[in-house]
Amino acid sequence: MDDHTTTSDEAVLKTLRRNLASIQERIESACERSERVSEDVHLVAVTKYADWSWVQRLAKLHHQFGENRPQQLVERQHQLPQMHWHLIGQLQRNKVRSVLPYCGLIHSVDSLKLFQKLSDVATELNLKPEVLLQINISGEQSKSGFTVSEIKERWTVLAGHHQSVSVRGFMTMAPAEQDPEQARATFRGLREFRDSLLQRRDQLPATWSLDQLSMGMSGDFEVAIEEGATIVRVGSALFNGLTRS
Ligand SMILES: *Cc1c(COP(=O)(O)O)cnc(C)c1O
Repeated sequence: MDDHTTTSDEAVLKTLRRNLASIQERIESACERSERVSEDVHLVAVTKYADWSWVQRLAKLHHQFGENRPQQLVERQHQLPQMHWHLIGQLQRNKVRSVLPYCGLIHSVDSLKLFQKLSDVATELNLKPEVLLQINISGEQSKSGFTVSEIKERWTVLAGHHQSVSVRGFMTMAPAEQDPEQARATFRGLREFRDSLLQRRDQLPATWSLDQLSMGMSGDFEVAIEEGATIVRVGSALFNGLTRS
């Protein structure tokens, strides 16, 4: 009876290996096109919809995982503590305390209130979390994240927390479109915004490198890389071809 499990285990592993190789090839081509080195682009495997059994298999091949629900991140982190667990989804202030000790980079800091809460809890727990500020580049009302003007207005307040929170850069989501080219303006906008802050280096806390740009998902990660992404968050393309048992 174990035979069956073994066979399907191997089939899952094979599919994951093939998908991962294909994504990595596409990352490399996008890097070549934009004269970047592929070492500067990190793949976060988004496991939010993945069966636990797939995640276990994937952990043999890859170590950077992303979850969008804090609760699921904590549960899975306990099962696979040696992996780096990125939090990419909305974080409510009342969940900060329970998730902070278990997550690596937090991509989705989308408000000043959340940022301040993170700073308070981090100080209390003696942690120094690394975060990305989520930016709503288009400024659409329906989207979460800081607007560019909010960041500019609140920069001094944000920077005042540099002892407890380290801002590594920014994250954004492009509007879901069929054509990945539609996302280019959003990604370029994020990079240009980051570059404009770097030009005022004297106003940045010395420890805030702002070197990370988390942008691009299954449908548009190549365009994101061409526009400067250092972290791409890929879910569905990675688990393509697998069906839930
Ligand atoms: C789900 C999700 C992804 C991955 O999306 P895919 O299209 O499945 O690759 C990336 N980023 C965030 C914030 C997500 O919620």
